[in-house]
Parts: sequence; structure tokens; C-alpha cells
Amino acid sequence: MKALTYIERGKFALLDKPQPEITDDGDAIVRVTLGSICTSDLHIKHGSVPRAVPGITVGHEMVGIVEKVGAAVKTVRPGDRVTVNVETFCGDCFFCKHGFVNNCTDPNGGWALGCRIDGGQAPYVRVPYADQGLDKIPDSVTDEQALFVGDVLATGFWAAKISQITTDDTVLIIGAGPTGICTLLCVMLKAPKQIIVCEKDPVRLQFVREHYPQVQTVTPEECLDYVASHSDHGGADVVLEVAGSDSTFCLAWQCARPNATVTVVALYDEPQTLPLPQMYGKNLTFKTGGVDGCDCGEILSLIERGKLDTTPLITHRFKLEDIEEAYRIFENKLDGVMKIAIEP
Ligand SMILES: [Zn+2]
Ligand SMILES: [Zn+2]
Repeated sequence: MKALTYIERGKFALLDKPQPEITDDGDAIVRVTLGSICTSDLHIKHGSVPRAVPGITVGHEMVGIVEKVGAAVKTVRPGDRVTVNVETFCGDCFFCKHGFVNNCTDPNGGWALGCRIDGGQAPYVRVPYADQGLDKIPDSVTDEQALFVGDVLATGFWAAKISQITTDDTVLIIGAGPTGICTLLCVMLKAPKQIIVCEKDPVRLQFVREHYPQVQTVTPEECLDYVASHSDHGGADVVLEVAGSDSTFCLAWQCARPNATVTVVALYDEPQTLPLPQMYGKNLTFKTGGVDGCDCGEILSLIERGKLDTTPLITHRFKLEDIEEAYRIFENKLDGVMKIAIEP
């Protein structure tokens, strides 16, 4: 089969590889029916994920059909349509039992698929700990509707969950890329008093205005003044930073009102500084870190009930054989691209 492979820094290539086999009782082999490209794939390509192993098949956002299962797998059977979780987790350690699956202490836990082990930009993928890593897709939910459940939508869901949003809140979301939009959709489920989205890219701002007219939009230059004058207490009650630059990190705490919650979803290329003397007395609560993708069943149920819809994010569709062109478009943000669906 053809599999998009991490060769070395700056280089992915479609290589011929054997189909994956079950290597552990807890494994499943999934035939990928739809995949996508994530910004984290680009981080691997750019050499900024040190744990990424050259030679692995990349890709960690996918849905498919279970082809084979190991003897110990209980929750899925061959023929089941499933979403694949970006995180590999044992379900059994202290962190897994508390829902912090991102911190699973299993040596093979964490972001493994498409990073340390072969991922899903290929026709087949081996999923370890399949009981945890696969969720059945309800019959009425399409592959496109379920495509982002295991990664980018799980991230948005987790971010909204830990931000403890109330219906009185003014919520500021910084960044309207794919993760920002998924975060926005999950914040909308909390029905806060108002939502302001800050984004520098005019195409993405337009995307938000077009699809979510109930949301207010600002540019980074306008953001601080706008949020201060449009919120009840001189700043946002909750800020979610999903953009990931030095300036957006500053904007996040500056736009927060005293005693606000600032949730940092973004992954930064550089360390960020908390200027504590300037922030003294603001008494902010920061929440940080990577997605805990343990709510996929609930997310699928929300999609089934029509409460969540990420299909507008799919702006482009490519065949796996043309994935290099898909990467060129995604990487250079050409042609208004948000997310690309890849069909093996
Ligand atoms: Zn990802
Ligand atoms: Zn664990």
C-alpha cells in the first residue's frame, strides 16, 4: 500500500509499505475510509517534533472500518465504522482513570499514531489499545461529519470543558484556524452571553462571519480595546488562546478581566514568558496543555443529535495519491483552505 512517510526534516514521501498486522492482543487494524492533514503533521515535517521517528507513516486524523481485531479487543468488531483517537492510552493507569489520558504513563501512551508509530495517511492503520482508541460512529453520522472527532474537535471540546464557561460570560477565542473553529463550536454549546473571535487572516475572519453570524469578530489590533469596551467587567471572563504566537499569548492575558480563566490550547514554537510584575493583582487562572481526547463518544453523540457540525471546515478533498499537492495547499494556506479530506 502507499503510505505518506516522514523521511527527514522537510521531507515526506509516498512510499510502498506492507499492510499493517496485529502485533498485540489489544490492537485493531482499521481500513481508513477518510483522513485529514493536521497542523501537527506540518510540525513533524518541519522537524519541530523531536520524538517523531523517521520512516513512520504520518497522519493521526482519520475514520475507517475495523478490519481485524486482536484477541483482547472487546469494544469493536470487524465491520464497525470508527473514529480513531489521536492519543494512545491504556485506560488503566492513574491518569487514564482520572480522564487525563494525554498523560497516560504507559510507555506507548500519548501521541503515538503518525508520530512514533505508523499513522493513517495510508489505506490501513494499526491502532494499539483499540478498546480506548476507537469509537463507533453512529449509523446516521457520515465519515465527513466524524472526521475530526479524534483530534482537532476533541481538542476544542476539551478546551471548552476545562474553561468552566457560564451563561453570563464573555468568551474571547484567539485564532480561527481549524482548532479555533472547533473550539468555537464547543464553546457555543455552553451558551455564553457573548463570544468574540480574534483572527488576523481576513479569509478566516470572513469564514467565521459567514458561518457563525452570531459571533463577534475582531483583528488582533482591535482586540484589546474591543474586548475591554464590549464586556461587562473590563475584559473577557474566559479567554481561549488557540493561535500560538508570542503576540497572541500576550493578548490572551491582556484581554482577560481580573480573576478570569485563560486556557492555552495553542502549541508554541518558542517558550512564552508570564510577565508576573505586570500581571500582579490580576489573579488569573491559567489552564494549559494538550488535548485529553477521552470524550469522543459524547462528541459523536452531539454530532448525531445535530448539535455539532464541523463539515464546513472541509474546504478541499483529495485522493491519497495526490496528498503531496494537498500538503502544498494546506502548508501555504492557499485557496482559503481550512481542512482537507483525504480519501485513500
Ligand atoms: Zn493533530
Ligand atoms: Zn494510561
